[in-house]
Amino acid sequence: RNSKLIEQLKKIDNLEIIERTSDVKRLSKDFYNYSPILEKKLDGCIADLVVRPIDQNSVKKVAEICWEFSIPLTLRGSGTGNYGQAVPLFKGIVMQMNCLNKIEEFHPETGFVKVQSGCLMGDLNKELEKYGRELRLLPSTWKTATIGGFIAGGSGGIGSIRWGFLRDPGNLIGLEAVTINEEPKLLRFDAEESEPLNHAYGTNGIITSLLIATDIKRKWYSIIIDCEGLNKTIEILKTCTTAAIDLKLGAILEKEIVDQMPSWFKGKSKSHKILIQSTLGGIKTIELICKKYEVNSFLLGEEDKLTNGISEVVWNHTTLHMRAKDKNWTYLQMLLPLDKEFELINSLREKWGKNILWHLEAVSQQGVPRLAALPVIKWHSSDQINQIIDNCKKLGAIIFNPHVLTVEGGGLGVIDSDQVKAKLKFDPKGLLNPGKLQGWEIKDEFNI
Ligand code: FAD
Repeated sequence: RNSKLIEQLKKIDNLEIIERTSDVKRLSKDFYNYSPILEKKLDGCIADLVVRPIDQNSVKKVAEICWEFSIPLTLRGSGTGNYGQAVPLFKGIVMQMNCLNKIEEFHPETGFVKVQSGCLMGDLNKELEKYGRELRLLPSTWKTATIGGFIAGGSGGIGSIRWGFLRDPGNLIGLEAVTINEEPKLLRFDAEESEPLNHAYGTNGIITSLLIATDIKRKWYSIIIDCEGLNKTIEILKTCTTAAIDLKLGAILEKEIVDQMPSWFKGKSKSHKILIQSTLGGIKTIELICKKYEVNSFLLGEEDKLTNGISEVVWNHTTLHMRAKDKNWTYLQMLLPLDKEFELINSLREKWGKNILWHLEAVSQQGVPRLAALPVIKWHSSDQINQIIDNCKKLGAIIFNPHVLTVEGGGLGVIDSDQVKAKLKFDPKGLLNPGKLQGWEIKDEFNI
């Protein structure tokens, strides 16, 4: 089957075919090794080959061939996802989208940008600067991750303090995607029609371009606040997030985490740290808040001009640095119960001690300032992780589990019938990233 398949693929113009085992292996992996549970499941999952289309026409032709041969097709941006999102569970073809990287249109009247899905967010942000704009939301991997991979696999990040999460209405305005059915087509979707493809791990359409909302470019300044006592630290961050100032980021790293961070960051003081990005005007208010609470702050400067910025130690980059010191650290992601954050942390501390270290991120959830947490956890067993998840749920946290493979498991745990319906329409043979959409596997039970 492979030789016939390759023969057909070789007839496609503007398509690179990668067959070398070491490259295919590398391009079949993402950062799932942050989870020892996924590591065990996914280490042997390798595609038959990888293709890189250069234009939309070659994407369509690959879809036609996959349909004809009934071969699984798993999409890949830069492969920085954490849950094996871009890992082919059932071999087949991995299609890396990074050569579709043009910025197609900028609409000055709305600030919307139309961009091909393989464009790196670092490049896109640089280009947007020319129009006085910037991306609203960035994963901490923004320099190397693609915008298509962020929409299909990410959730939020730097900017979530103001703009919430990617699936919130107003962030994704539309997209274009190629279907994989009897007659693959390039379809254009408006904001509402795009919803089922947003955060679907590429299971129900091959996104070729996106129309996304942007923000006015501001100069963001980074400030670090030293603070004793986790409860007080949380209170200060919350005071900052409800002040009438522009914010891009607000995070807390517990002192034991700070100890493991790069030396440029941790400084000398042995305290918890609050990390904030705001405008220069906003920084004045933060300094005032620090004075009121009698804590020290240190203004690092304009984030874009720093050799090492605080964007490099937040969101899942905190976990990255912890793992660089000790691979036994893993993590969880959750939304903490409103105004009961410290109770949850205290209760878990009593049970698990310093096996859990706390890293919090300020976010806006449907317009309400909230605290999310990405605690790092010393790995012992799957049972331990499941018990911690249960403990957190009982105390009111909403878990986004990074130790599972499905869209639903990593999200709210519920099946989105619109995602399944879209797959039925645009991928009726179930060839796109098979095994990742739980609702598809059990669709007959739901009469979808
Ligand atoms: P990939 O990993 O290649 O793909 C992600 C998913 O999208 C896969 O399911 C893939 O099949 C699908 N996909 C890719 N391209 C397409 C396409 N064109 N059409 C349809 N489906 C497609 N994530 C966050 O949300 N916020 C963070 O702050 C964050 N920080 C991180 C920090 C670290 C250290 C690491 C390792 C990961 C982090 N992530 C974060 C996860 C990940 O980096 C981001 O979600 C990133 O945007 C993914 O982009 P990518 O190009 O690497 O996508």
